[in-house]
Amino acid sequence: MEKELITVVVPCFNEQEVLPLFHEEILRVSDGMTEAHPQLEFEFLFINDGSRDGTLDILRKYSAEDSRFRYVSFSRNFGKEAAMLAGMEHSKGDYVVIMDADLQHPPKLMPQMYEYVSSGEYDCAATRRVSRKGEPKLLSFFSRSFYKVINKISQTQIVDGAQDYRFMTRQMVNAILDMPEYNRFSKGIFSWVGFRTKYIEVENTERAAGKTTWNFWKLLMYSFEGITAFSTFPLAFSVIFSILLFIAALVLMIFAIAELSEALAVMCLICFVGGLQLFCMGIMGQYLAKTYMEVKRRPKYLIGETEETNRKER
Ligand code: UDP
Ligand code: MG
Repeated sequence: MEKELITVVVPCFNEQEVLPLFHEEILRVSDGMTEAHPQLEFEFLFINDGSRDGTLDILRKYSAEDSRFRYVSFSRNFGKEAAMLAGMEHSKGDYVVIMDADLQHPPKLMPQMYEYVSSGEYDCAATRRVSRKGEPKLLSFFSRSFYKVINKISQTQIVDGAQDYRFMTRQMVNAILDMPEYNRFSKGIFSWVGFRTKYIEVENTERAAGKTTWNFWKLLMYSFEGITAFSTFPLAFSVIFSILLFIAALVLMIFAIAELSEALAVMCLICFVGGLQLFCMGIMGQYLAKTYMEVKRRPKYLIGETEETNRKER
């Protein structure tokens, strides 16, 4: 019987509290799957994204106990995007699953995802949040608006509520790895590469332990990343505004001819034009900054240690 390897990729940043729970749960689920499908084999690939707690020690221990547990440890924190990329790059599986360590992406959905993908009907199974329960109202509002805006101005459609919990075929993973960009916005990348994706609708799950590192500001910056990575529409702002300005100038000219509060009109105009120029320059600056980072071709992450280097040292 031909073996099928599933790589479970888990980005970890300061997850010492939740890792033991995750470990237990992932073993329970994967054992169940190998029982039902004897051809299945697993490898568990943890990416330690520069944790400052005992995460790395726990990962070392797991890999010493069980050779199916592997890890890649970054030299510092590079962010979840880099961690997911490193996971895919180091994965050996015929299938790759990406899931969070905090059990917000329930491992128990994995058998169902496997069924969808192994049937050949889909190349990817992902979860989609249908409720935003337990999330601050303001945050929900901004998230919804973000999806509306990006889907209007970008050709790449991003599904509202789609999560990074994904079960993918090797083909799809290779397609994602073919995208060399530095500014990685996975939600967009997953969608850009195409392939047939089955969305499984889930309720929001609370973190099992530990705490999130995301806050409003980080999410706002991340959504900006998404817009600039998948749309150049904001660059067209200056053109649109300049047309509006031309019309405004015409109207003002009529007012000026009619001699209605000249001074005020001039002042308004100065503020308006000045602000607008700065705004458009700001947008251009953002794209320039992104281009600058891409052109530098810096590595997207650096590895401090892996389970292989660790084994050699001992
Ligand atoms: N994570 C990471 N690097 C970071 C931040 C987070 O690898 O810089 C990991 C984290 O360990 C977790 C996943 O990404 O497994 C999701 O993070 P978190 O639970 O903090 O985000 P949330 O679920 O609140 O969106
Ligand atoms: Mg989480």
